[in-house]
Amino acid sequence: MSTQLPELPNDFERVLAVVAHPDDLEYGASGAIAVWADAGTTVAYLLVTRGEAGIDGLDPAECGPLREAEQVAAAKRVGVDVVEFLDHRDGVIEHDLELRRDIAAAIRRHRPEVVVVINFDDTWFGQHWNSPDHRNTGRATLDAIGDAGNRWIFPEQVADGLEPWDGVRMIAVSGSSEPTHAVPIEDGLERAIASLEAHTAYLDALSGDMADARTFLTDMATSAGKRFGGRPAALFRVFGA
Ligand SMILES: [Zn+2]
Repeated sequence: MSTQLPELPNDFERVLAVVAHPDDLEYGASGAIAVWADAGTTVAYLLVTRGEAGIDGLDPAECGPLREAEQVAAAKRVGVDVVEFLDHRDGVIEHDLELRRDIAAAIRRHRPEVVVVINFDDTWFGQHWNSPDHRNTGRATLDAIGDAGNRWIFPEQVADGLEPWDGVRMIAVSGSSEPTHAVPIEDGLERAIASLEAHTAYLDALSGDMADARTFLTDMATSAGKRFGGRPAALFRVFGA
C-alpha cells in the first residue's frame, strides 16, 4: 500500500470538473484544483444537480438555491469562477442520453484537456456502497468525452455552432481506490479547507468525520502523502481519454 506514486504532470491549460453534487469536489480534489489555478490553469465546475436533496430537514425548493450559492463560494476560494448547473434531479440522476448530451455540450463549450470526476465505482474503497448519482455521473462523463469528439453524435449541437472537441487527453478520478498519480497540495490545502467550509449549511447538517473540514482534509492529505514522499497530496486515478 505504500508504493510511491508519480506526480501528475501539470502541463494543461483547461480543466473541466464534472460531479453530481455541491461538495463532491471539496472532499478530495479541491486542493489540487487550487494548485492548478495558481499555475494559470483555467478550471470550470459542472454540477449535474444543485444538491437539493442533500439536507434532511430542508425542503429541496429552499435547499437547492442555498447549496448552489455555497458551491459558487466554495469554487471561488480555490480560484474557480465558472460554476454551471445542469439541473438534473438530485438523488435520481440517470446515466442516459439526456445526461450524456448535456455533459457533451459542456465539454464542447469548455474544450478541456483534462476532465476531473470523482469515484464512480460501485463502492468507496470496498467499504461503503457508492451513490447512484456518483456512479451514473462519472460513467456518463466518460462516455460524453467520446461523444463530444464525434460530430455525428448529438449533431444538433454542432449545427448550433458547438464544434466537436476531441482534445481531452486525460481523465483524473478523485477518490479512487486505485490511484495512479499524486498532486502535491502544500500550497492548496488551506484553501481546500476554506472551500469545504464554504458549504456551511451542509456541514452544519452533518455529523461524524465529514463534518469537520479541517481534520478530514488534513488527514486525507497526510494519508495520501504516505504514497508521495511524505508531502501532503491529493491522489487521482488517471486514464487516457
Ligand atoms: Zn455527492
